Amino acid sequence: MSPSPAATPVPFLNFASMIRELRPDLDAAYARVMDSGRFLLGPELEQFETEFAAACDVRHCIGVASGLDALQLSLRVLDIGPGDEVLVPAHTFIATFLAVSQVGARPVPVDVSPRGFNLDPERLEAACTPRTRAIIPVHLYGEPADMPAIQHFAARRGLHVLEDAAQAHGARVAGRIVGGWGGLAAFSFYPGKNLGAFGDGGAVTTNDARLAERLRALRNYGGVRKYEHLELGFNSRLGELQAAFLRVRLACLPEWNQRRRKRAVAYASALTGLAELDCPTPSPATDPVWHLYVVCHPHRDCLRHWLQQRGIDTLVHYPLPPHRTPAYAGLNPLDFPRAQQLAETVVSLPMGPHLSPDELRRVADAVAEFCAGHAAHSQGFCRALAKAAVPHHA
Ligand SMILES: *Cc1c(COP(=O)(O)O)cnc(C)c1O
Repeated sequence: MSPSPAATPVPFLNFASMIRELRPDLDAAYARVMDSGRFLLGPELEQFETEFAAACDVRHCIGVASGLDALQLSLRVLDIGPGDEVLVPAHTFIATFLAVSQVGARPVPVDVSPRGFNLDPERLEAACTPRTRAIIPVHLYGEPADMPAIQHFAARRGLHVLEDAAQAHGARVAGRIVGGWGGLAAFSFYPGKNLGAFGDGGAVTTNDARLAERLRALRNYGGVRKYEHLELGFNSRLGELQAAFLRVRLACLPEWNQRRRKRAVAYASALTGLAELDCPTPSPATDPVWHLYVVCHPHRDCLRHWLQQRGIDTLVHYPLPPHRTPAYAGLNPLDFPRAQQLAETVVSLPMGPHLSPDELRRVADAVAEFCAGHAAHSQGFCRALAKAAVPHHA
């Protein structure tokens, strides 16, 4: 059961191939910005905002400095602040919680659906108090949350809905693309996202012209025109260079998402039914964009070790629910069994538009071999594996 040491590594996400494919267009974008002499709030940003709004089927897009800022500024224009509570999924990246804390409100975690990775709409009612003002559903791993149910609940309760779409550019639920379901949606263009910049970036999408106008002011010192400060603002702009690069990435987003879907299908057919392994089973009402391909195994760390020995990179999204991190030690320490179970068992396999069929086959074979060996020998298998441990970078 020793791995072959000569195996070529399988990277988690292949940036080199990604850039190779786009290089001529990225170079042209770079040259366009340098020749323009405009670096902030110029024509590239305006064009990108128009193109991204169209791609999300919404009227307005406001580029900002990061996904976290997109969330935080959205909460501000909804006038959410101290004394308010915002419902967030208990299983998410910490940014969803941090945005709420940054405006002085309190994130209230809601557990995840028994099957799946997203907020359970059935649990919203129990988490509501008279202070609840908004819900932030997260489309985690590229699979949309149950937006029809969440919208229905929010409308009945008079709550705002802010989508955290940082992992789901182009995903659909009930036939409709994410970004226009709630009043506002926040996107991240962190390099590893499905639509990534070459540095930080983010955007808010909305159909509400008044909220859009206020966001444009808030991101730019509180005013749209220079030295006109209507309210206490921020410096949170999406630069021209990043906007120009993002236009290149946006043009191939549909095709690259399609390649991810194909790889998810291939993974599912190779991994479904393996002992002790849970594969993602998105609701048929959704069309996910597979930002990550996340499986669950009760001995996740042992599986990761096995794959690492075979040169296969994996990651864990995320090893601790945000409310269990030291940063949130003061938060109500309620138990969220499903979120806890996910934190202990999830592992993200290599996934991306440039993962080759051969690489995917190697990952799937290694996972299958592990599952068979582990099921046969259980704990002893992990102990033997730890003893036989070889350095990852010989
Ligand atoms: C990446 C991410 C964010 C934050 O985006 P940044 O651009 O890194 O600030 C927020 N929420 C989720 C779910 C994310 O994955």
